[in-house]
Amino acid sequence: MRQASLFTAFVHLSNAPLGGAFSPSTLPSAASRVSTLLRNASPSSTATEPPLNPLLSKIKPSKTVEVFSLVKQMEAEGETVTSLCVGEPDFAPPQAVLDAATAAMANGHTTYTAVTGTLELRRAIADDLKSRKGIEYNPVTEIVVGNGAKQCVYQGLLAACGAGDEVIVPAPYWPSYPEMALLVGASPVILETSVNDGYLINPEALDQCLKDHPKAKVLMLCNPSNPTGGVHSTDLLHQIAQVVEKYPNIIVLADEIYERLVYTQDGKCTAFASLPNMFSRTITINGFSKSHAMTGFRLGYLAAPARFAKAASVLQGQITSCASSVSQAAGVAALREVEESWLENNAVIMKKKRDYVLEELGKMDGVSVAVPPDGAFYVLPDVSKYYDGDDTQLCLDLLKEKKLALVPGESFGAPGTVRISYATSMEELEVAMTKLREFLEGLS
Ligand code: PMP
Repeated sequence: MRQASLFTAFVHLSNAPLGGAFSPSTLPSAASRVSTLLRNASPSSTATEPPLNPLLSKIKPSKTVEVFSLVKQMEAEGETVTSLCVGEPDFAPPQAVLDAATAAMANGHTTYTAVTGTLELRRAIADDLKSRKGIEYNPVTEIVVGNGAKQCVYQGLLAACGAGDEVIVPAPYWPSYPEMALLVGASPVILETSVNDGYLINPEALDQCLKDHPKAKVLMLCNPSNPTGGVHSTDLLHQIAQVVEKYPNIIVLADEIYERLVYTQDGKCTAFASLPNMFSRTITINGFSKSHAMTGFRLGYLAAPARFAKAASVLQGQITSCASSVSQAAGVAALREVEESWLENNAVIMKKKRDYVLEELGKMDGVSVAVPPDGAFYVLPDVSKYYDGDDTQLCLDLLKEKKLALVPGESFGAPGTVRISYATSMEELEVAMTKLREFLEGLS
């Protein structure tokens, strides 16, 4: 097996500053940039420069965002890169959404809205949550629309915990969770999950973890999961809720942004807040990026009991005011006008892509998908047989040699794996699987 062969070359090449100029069409500059980006975690200052906030020394940049920026950079330099790194649907938003955005601009809906969002959108969200999930949120006091679910997760965390508190983050995790916990001054506590449990939360392990961590204030629950695609069944969620009930200080931050992409027989993703006694304990996060392919609209929401929603709106009022008025009009159309069949059809197409990727990975030597994903649009194959498990180096070499961009599993708390996002065209997936197979065959 070939070891970290190109790393020294990468380091040797990486003398350009991060924001430095790139000479066109030169792989070395791009290669040096990927090495710097993936290996250097945090910004620094020289002795002569005013220092940055010391908090930054604790925060790692998002590798997904970095790999994606690098892909864009390489493309700008004339490279053709196959990118399976970013969590972005490849289909366009529904026409009704685009029309609503155009109409909003034409009709002068271009000003600030209420911090928590237009009442029209909050009502649409409340109706949607009630009809599909069986949870009743008051649109006036219990829903806050923000600039994407990411901002809502951050505000939810900031509302629920702070310095000295702990945040339980089940691994593999969405990399922003531990970093956001640090940003709010809390400490992330990683709760390992096992392949045998399908990478889902084990209720006994959770119970033990909460017993061991009396300072814990928040449990992050990503369902369906990024990066594993795991979906917690209703029964398992009930068991988790029973554990949570034993710890009155715990708030569950239920990030359900992938809930429209579930491939199990019943296609169901139960909302944690809908479980008995869990409404008052849950901050629900959702949005429009994954379900309606509206990533660039930057529109998400938080739904929670009034005191959390109020806290989140106070924070948002000081940080960004409101989400874009145009995006909010588009969000209303997404919930009021888009046919259920449009969403269901996307899930059917995505499932076909999942099946194709699983089949292709199954043919590759030394690659195993112990837990086939039931939702979202990610697979997290184990590739630890290669590079002595150094997944970052594997991704670096794969990008350099084959121009295929994947994200190292290490950044998701899953060393020895790589995360593949299959939310792209079948043609692109076919190219990607060929590149990956050829690359790994070259290593054997
Ligand atoms: N939560 C999870 C688990 C995600 O994967 C993402 C996007 N990658 C988000 C939240 C944020 O979504 P957005 O800000 O685009 O609404």
